[in-house]
Amino acid sequence: MNQAVFPDRLQPMSSKFLAEPHKLFIGGEWVPARSGETFDVINPATGLAFARVAAGDAADIDLAVKAARRAFESGAWTNLPPSARQRLLLRLADAIEAEIDDIALLESFDNGMPVGAARFIAGMAPIETLRYNAGWVGKVNGETPTLSAPNHHAYTLKEPVGVVGAITPWNGPLLIAVAKIAPALAAGCTIVLKPAELTPLTAIRLGQLIQDVGIPAGVVNIVTGFGTTAGKALAEHPDVDKISFTGSTATGKAIVQMATGNLKRVSLELGGKSPVFIFPDADIEKATEGAANGIFSNAGQVCVAGSRLYVHEKIFDKVVDGVAAYAQKIKVGSGQEPGTQMGPLISQKQLDRVSGYIQSGRQDGAEVVTGGDRIGNQGYFMQPTVLAQTNRDMAVVREEIFGPVVCAMPMNDEGIDRLAATANDTTYGLSAYIWTQNLSIAHKLAKRIRSGTIRVNGGAGLDNALPFGGYRQSGWGRENGREGIETFLETKSVAIQL
Ligand code: NAD
Repeated sequence: MNQAVFPDRLQPMSSKFLAEPHKLFIGGEWVPARSGETFDVINPATGLAFARVAAGDAADIDLAVKAARRAFESGAWTNLPPSARQRLLLRLADAIEAEIDDIALLESFDNGMPVGAARFIAGMAPIETLRYNAGWVGKVNGETPTLSAPNHHAYTLKEPVGVVGAITPWNGPLLIAVAKIAPALAAGCTIVLKPAELTPLTAIRLGQLIQDVGIPAGVVNIVTGFGTTAGKALAEHPDVDKISFTGSTATGKAIVQMATGNLKRVSLELGGKSPVFIFPDADIEKATEGAANGIFSNAGQVCVAGSRLYVHEKIFDKVVDGVAAYAQKIKVGSGQEPGTQMGPLISQKQLDRVSGYIQSGRQDGAEVVTGGDRIGNQGYFMQPTVLAQTNRDMAVVREEIFGPVVCAMPMNDEGIDRLAATANDTTYGLSAYIWTQNLSIAHKLAKRIRSGTIRVNGGAGLDNALPFGGYRQSGWGRENGREGIETFLETKSVAIQL
């Protein structure tokens, strides 16, 4: 651990935690990688290493899958009475809540997000996800259909799919890990989690809390390591029943290939290039702020970021100037500095990627209304950026940048058909945003856009009760709501001739 990069703001838990060696959590034990390898964790605000974690690979994944299989077959989790499983999930939520400030700080060091945002993203949100899913335990049951075959009694059973491999990205590390663990556990599955190599720390802390609250050994296993070693081994493993993956579309496609060996179930939460429509009758102030927040939160490293901004020509200048003014006022800095609103990008690679896209936009004729450059030369800070004079043929409009860069384009009274075609002019289909007072337009457009989530006038699109996922190349399946549990269940039909 490099003390120089540590301000003395660390809370007692975080400082004790960071001083420990970070091992793999397999079968209820904390063990080093079989290879003995470790790797650095970098603080993106400084570019300096501040922790080292075990580099698990195929050998460790195999042990973790065996532990998860043993736990599953033993019934230690699946056969616990629903009330007991529910209590353990609620206890885990309470344990996170008890140290929410520490967890927020850890996530901020690891991912770069401001501590205040981390308190919600890595604190309240996963806590709510655990509590919500605890409520489903024992409540997703089968049916008793009436058969056409005479003289039969039949019923369906909902059974846990088995051993789940969860592979998660770095942009919402704890939240996305919990978004998989909570419903999988509620469904009665056991799990091997492979967190992103760039942000492994809160997952490790989660493992410690899982142990503390008394979730049986082997029910949740955590193997830190790289995608091409540990992640690949998990996706390919013949004894994993399902992979739940969140990450890039390219990796999602590779995972599908890897899963074919044993035809394991696969659910995918992938990338997006989500459109925002602002009509002239909208509450312009709210819509402008909503559009700015929708692309600059978490430095634009958000799958549902509203990255294509279509504004009616009557209000185009006003809205674009408003988003640019908002961008210029954002306080960009280390997530641990009080008052910071936007932290760094996650890595040098991500900084290069975002800078490369802005460069390509410039070359293609886009106007940089504001931003466009790196900030400083330490850490991976990027200016919030607004591009105008963009069009559908440019890479900045077609591809997911995953940074604080929005492309603004005018629209006119072209009608729902044309607007829907514009929205759907993408390979993705994750989210869309509509700002208008005209409910008729909102409903018609919402119906025509091929995307998993539609938010009207800033409506809450991300809620544990609302299914979340993508059309087209934004993914397979849904998280959250009843469907979120169903994705970890198999349905069995039982027919009895009377
Ligand atoms: P990524 O695909 O590079 O990595 C995600 C995870 O997959 C990591 O744990 C990584 O180690 C692992 N991985 C990488 N290569 C692998 C391989 N060959 N085999 C198995 N595992 C492998 O994605 P990222 O850069 O960490 O995350 C950013 C992407 O995630 C963006 O595209 C974003 O839109 C998407 N995302 C989607 C959602 C959603 O819910 N739809 C949420 C957050 C992020």
